Amino acid sequence: MVAAASSAPLCRSCGHPLGPGLFCAYCGLFVLDPQATTIMASRVSRLGASLLNALFIILTLGIGWVIWWFIVAPRGQNPGKAVVGLRVIRTDGRPMDTGWMFVRGLVGFVPGLVVGLWGIVDDAWLLWDQNAQTLHDKIASTVVVRAHGSEHLLNAGWAGQLPAGVVQPGAYAPPLSFPATVSPQSSSGIADSSRTTSTKPSAKQSSNDFSEWDRVRS
Ligand SMILES: [Zn+2]
Repeated sequence: MVAAASSAPLCRSCGHPLGPGLFCAYCGLFVLDPQATTIMASRVSRLGASLLNALFIILTLGIGWVIWWFIVAPRGQNPGKAVVGLRVIRTDGRPMDTGWMFVRGLVGFVPGLVVGLWGIVDDAWLLWDQNAQTLHDKIASTVVVRAHGSEHLLNAGWAGQLPAGVVQPGAYAPPLSFPATVSPQSSSGIADSSRTTSTKPSAKQSSNDFSEWDRVRS
């Protein structure tokens, strides 16, 4: 566990070693975005969007909110998120569609009808989760990012090839105590990064690097 941090791949935005999460712990970059422009939505903005949704539902008697929802849902948004400037994407970098937005919303809402505390625990989970996921985010395999900078994910339909050295994390792992400070040797490069952080053989990693060079030379 400790060894994994010392040979982690580096963030392509700020250069800090990446932890086990889907976002850089320092600058919030979504590590699977090949263009390195998709940033995690702040927790405060998430709560703001939730409050706005509640307000809009009341003001529009629900009807207007639902119509609005169908307009923005194809872009991974609901009315509150659209106003604040947030977007839901899948944890593998794929964009959302209306159907999956509906499922995600349902998972966040329906259990609360049975267990009253669900709504609070579900949403509050993002406050301490390393990927700022709510419980319905985890169940639906989604994360929330800033709308600005993530538009290309919609157009491409896919985040594309994983950047070199970055491994898709598992669906859900209990929160780990990952180091807040970075040990000096952690900046020693990403050449052998796949040895401890990846289950894939390092040969594959190397061949990716070489093919990168081949492109440059040709
Ligand atoms: Zn970073």
